[in-house]
Amino acid sequence: IFILAVESSCDDTSAAVFKNEHKLSNIVSTQEIHEIYGGVVPELASRAHQQNIVPVIDQALKKAGITLQDLDAVAFTKGPGLMGSLLVANSFIKSLSLSLNIPLIGVNHMQGHLLAHFIKDENQENSPDFPFLGVTISGGHTQLVKVTNHFEMEVIGETLDDAIGEAFDKCGKMFGLPYPAGPEIDQLAKEGNPKKFVFAKPQVKNLDFSFSGLKTSVLYFLQREIKKNPDFIKENLNDLCASFQYTAVKILTDKIKKASQQTQIKTIAIGGGVSANSGIREKLKEDAEKRDWNVFIPPFEYCTDNAAMIAIVAYFKYKYSYFSDLTSIAQARFKITEH
Ligand code: ATP
Ligand code: FE
Repeated sequence: IFILAVESSCDDTSAAVFKNEHKLSNIVSTQEIHEIYGGVVPELASRAHQQNIVPVIDQALKKAGITLQDLDAVAFTKGPGLMGSLLVANSFIKSLSLSLNIPLIGVNHMQGHLLAHFIKDENQENSPDFPFLGVTISGGHTQLVKVTNHFEMEVIGETLDDAIGEAFDKCGKMFGLPYPAGPEIDQLAKEGNPKKFVFAKPQVKNLDFSFSGLKTSVLYFLQREIKKNPDFIKENLNDLCASFQYTAVKILTDKIKKASQQTQIKTIAIGGGVSANSGIREKLKEDAEKRDWNVFIPPFEYCTDNAAMIAIVAYFKYKYSYFSDLTSIAQARFKITEH
């Protein structure tokens, strides 16, 4: 079967065409307009989706070498995300389903980040076996999920405040880096000493996280140092990035270890934009060898927001006959267990 999926939950407009679980195309248009504001401006995001959606779908179909008439189903991201952004794909895909008279499938974005491991293409042939421990780390989420089957998931830990990507972006901003700061911190950290500065690791119960404490720790430390030396950040940028990243990675991987011990699950599948981070990748490789884990990290294309991950969920939903109808509304807040 051929499926067209569209993702518009935040600031990337994306369309993908799948033949069963195989990706034929995955086009992403990233909105650059938000950079100057240092964060996503919801109103501007929905306007840009409105402009991008037709050309992005056009490109996805062309690259896949099919036309609208070949499609067997259409899918959209139902939530979670920014309401004005979600509405764009929601209304557009509903109209397509109506005019082509084919099934409509609403997809949970967070299920997408986890099931992205099942996308098949030339760069990703293997997928994790159930049950696995899903780790979603992005600009908006930090979650540990026990995944028993495609649609049997349980959140066993999550952040109580900021997401890990948010911590990268906010601390990067304090270091004077442009938004989103995650990739640049990653680069600069490679030249720095991760043990140079010590930042507080918040003590959080069970498998939950807190990243706002780390942010505050960095803020107070910088305020103190800048008082003594106004050029402190400039002179120590690499070490600051390395030490911050070291701490953030440690907070994350300590909890992954704990979750694996508690659940006895040794298959770990990471997703979300922050999984691009080379510190996290290295540490997980190390841990995997030490603890006999089987670690899965999808190609970068499927880590940040993309429609391919929406299409793969839609494919499984098609197989399970989980369809939506025209009453399906966008959900800004949407639990990972919801459809
Ligand atoms: P969500 O998926 O929760 O809705 P989002 O769409 O903002 O949030 P993604 O697109 O998955 O999240 O990821 C973006 C985040 O990933 C940003 O916070 C960015 O700084 C971070 N990021 C990207 N690359 C890296 C990297 N190499 N190191 C650290 N963080 C990174
Ligand atoms: Fe996302």
